[in-house]
Amino acid sequence: MLGAIVSLLVVLAAAYAVTQVGGVITLVFVAAVLFLAYRRLSLLAFTVTFTVLLALYTTAGAPAGIWKGLLWVLLAGLWLLNVRPLRKALITRPFMAAYLKLLPSMSQTEREALEAGTVWWDGELFTGAPNWSKLLAAKAPRLSDAEQAFLDGPCEELCRMLDEWHITHELGDLPPEVWEFLKTRGFFAMIIPKRYGGLEFSAFAHSCVLAKISSRSATAASTTAVPNSLGPAELLNHYGTEEQKNYYLPRLARGEEVPCFALTGPRAGSDAASIPDTGIVCCGMWRGTEVVGLKLNFTKRYITLAPVATVIGLAFRMFDPDKLLGGKTDIGITCALIPRDTPGITIGRRHFPLNVPFQNGPVQGRDVFVPLDAIIGGPAMAGSGWRMLVEQLSVGRCISLPSNTTGAAKAGVWATGAYARIRSQFNTPVGRFEGVESVIARMVGLTYTMDAARSVTAGAIDGGEKPSVPSAMLKYHVTEMGRQVANDAMDVHGGKGIMLGPRNYLARGYEITPVAITVEGANLLTRNLIIFGQGAIRCHPFVLREMTAARNADRTAGVDEFDRALFGHVGFTISNAVRSFIMALTHARFTRAPVAGATARYYQHVVRFSASFAFAVDVAMLTLGGYLKKKEGLSARLGDVLSAMYLASMVLKHYENQGRRAEDLPIVEWACRNLLYNAQEQLHGFLRNFPNRALAGVMRALIFPRGLVYSAPGDRLAHQVAALVTAPTEARDWLCYGIYWTLEPHNPLGLLQEAMILAGQLEPLLKRIRVEGVKTGRVTALDLPGQIQQALAAGIVSETEAAALREYDRKTMDLINVDDFASEELGTKAQPLEVDPAAAGQRPHVA
Ligand SMILES: Cc1cc2nc3c(=O)[nH]c(=O)nc-3n(C[C@H](O)[C@H](O)[C@H](O)COP(=O)(O)OP(=O)(O)OC[C@H]3O[C@@H](n4cnc5c(N)ncnc54)[C@H](O)[C@@H]3O)c2cc1C
Repeated sequence: MLGAIVSLLVVLAAAYAVTQVGGVITLVFVAAVLFLAYRRLSLLAFTVTFTVLLALYTTAGAPAGIWKGLLWVLLAGLWLLNVRPLRKALITRPFMAAYLKLLPSMSQTEREALEAGTVWWDGELFTGAPNWSKLLAAKAPRLSDAEQAFLDGPCEELCRMLDEWHITHELGDLPPEVWEFLKTRGFFAMIIPKRYGGLEFSAFAHSCVLAKISSRSATAASTTAVPNSLGPAELLNHYGTEEQKNYYLPRLARGEEVPCFALTGPRAGSDAASIPDTGIVCCGMWRGTEVVGLKLNFTKRYITLAPVATVIGLAFRMFDPDKLLGGKTDIGITCALIPRDTPGITIGRRHFPLNVPFQNGPVQGRDVFVPLDAIIGGPAMAGSGWRMLVEQLSVGRCISLPSNTTGAAKAGVWATGAYARIRSQFNTPVGRFEGVESVIARMVGLTYTMDAARSVTAGAIDGGEKPSVPSAMLKYHVTEMGRQVANDAMDVHGGKGIMLGPRNYLARGYEITPVAITVEGANLLTRNLIIFGQGAIRCHPFVLREMTAARNADRTAGVDEFDRALFGHVGFTISNAVRSFIMALTHARFTRAPVAGATARYYQHVVRFSASFAFAVDVAMLTLGGYLKKKEGLSARLGDVLSAMYLASMVLKHYENQGRRAEDLPIVEWACRNLLYNAQEQLHGFLRNFPNRALAGVMRALIFPRGLVYSAPGDRLAHQVAALVTAPTEARDWLCYGIYWTLEPHNPLGLLQEAMILAGQLEPLLKRIRVEGVKTGRVTALDLPGQIQQALAAGIVSETEAAALREYDRKTMDLINVDDFASEELGTKAQPLEVDPAAAGQRPHVA
């Protein structure tokens, strides 16, 4: 509201100015100055151009008085700011002293976490003027022949072996032959280099394998993800000594060792750096010889693969109280590899994660003695554990959970689109009701977004990036979108999704969604603390430079660098304010887009939101400082804006990578609209909750001068998008590409597709029965088999047509039907049937 009022005032003031003496020339002058700010000139270039403009303005008849006086004072100030020694003495030094006092102290651990990974497209979004060529020039991810062969061969074979009901309900584990297959066919060795016997897959191939398995079995996907994610193999690859690599990596690649990684414990979950588990440097006996080593005491829980692991990657805090290593006593977080059979370890019991029985359990160690060589990377890496973990998390978080979740979402869309076509109510396929269409469209749009994010980001990793902030964005948003898709799939399936049994292909995927939400940095923490918290310092073009400069022990160099960063920062903020205002006012119509065609507008909107976001970030950081970390609601919303822009960019790049396929345009439009609408709403929420209301008003005027004009995807678009997946279209195939959709007896994804194709082919016949039979009264049966029989008798359909319809009905009902069980088949313990003697003769009830 305030924004709209301010905009109105601006327009009225401009109109008034035009009617006054020198009004037009004043407007031209102001527009020229705004244009300079928009174009982001350096301070000197701005000052020179401003001088020329002011001279012209004065000669052309600028109105005399206070306004003109102010402009000359401003010009004088600008020239003074160009004299660096003067501005350093008068502004930079005092400001830096105050800044240092406000700057929260940062531990080595925090600094390492902040500096881990690389800054990629996320950094561009912080500039307010992202350079699209950086993103668009990146190569589209591609599978090598060997990777494709793995997906078509062993991966397909694995999917065929998996029976999720047998695994989740009957065995409570993967069958032994599946374990063997996973271990011996390289599924646990995707990230291990070929020279150690691994597959050495690209990040993209790794992601595609997980997505495919996940479309078939949540249990198998989780089991496969862990050895390829943050854990012993990954840590050894990057930090292991040659001896450790030569010993462990071939054994892990052959599946002779099964790894797990134990960080979390009962007392330290999200705040993982606070683990109380200890490793004390001391002398002890190791295989008959006395050596210097570590005495470990730890209690860990929730550890995936722990019950079956043969080697435990362990994170603990290392101390050297007797200074046996000669340095500090508190050495810090350290990672080591501990063989399962080391005396003192208790392992083997299992947790039961939401009915999806991948191996997960606690592990404890009491006075476990290992030599110092057990430290990953050897004694030289003692105390570097936290850095190792956060560095590798930058990559791992972009792959495991995003890929598993995307594979499951693709399977959900594939199944739901087909089910909504073959399931009719009120004589209409349920997928044709507008209310259902909007839900299916959301599933499609979100799945496209997830697929774009995981594949484009995997491509960036293959190009050498370790994108730490995007890894947090993917972790949070892809898993949240996956949760939404899982919910939607259940809704569209109605009771079919709820009744557990071998015929239920949705429920385990639905049940496991909170696991993806919780692991690798729980989502609430990731949204509120990590995405923006890390991004603001890591990606901002000036903040880290200012912090580093302020802390520089060499004062002269520090002041010099701080001065450059500070004045760069001020110009940057002013420019973003102007850019935000102009682009919001013009709806970014005049902003340069790197492509032509239907998607160009979305590029323009991303640039507009980037400027508004960068401006809001600077105002928030300048006024709230360290308090912003505590205002999690504000940080979370800024993180959402950043993520929406990042994900929209991924969607646009994915569309380019896939060859700008025209059929996908409605989906791309849905995805971009949804994301940019979210960006607007979160920015609006940020302004509504900003504590300084006057500043919030100013920001609102510069960010939303026309109010909230960006709209969410509409019903017509939803209709177009839903139609793409409720029929056998190319867009449906492309969206869901990579899942296990082979047509075979026990694969619901293949069978649903077959039934959906039949539904389309037989629709004219069904219509004929309705029009010529039901409406004329020649066909009176209420169910399809009866109608087919009567239509055949009445000569409405031929024998062959009736046979095709009967076959279709059989196949469809086979998919629509659900399971039922005898009472004693459910539950793991027999329940006695209690009969109430007083109600003898009545139905017995289960106690
Ligand atoms: C199935 C499963 C498998 C796992 N596998 C492994 C494994 O292999 N190895 C391993 O080491 N760990 C593993 N974990 C542990 C996992 O990483 C932790 O569960 C996770 O880090 C969260 O810790 P917590 O469960 O103790 O939640 P808590 O830390 O108790 O958090 C509770 C809630 O508070 C939120 N929260 C906490 N702090 C903040 C904050 N500052 N701002 C906002 N919200 C906050 C969290 O997001 C969460 O929602 C696994 C967990 C599960 C469930």
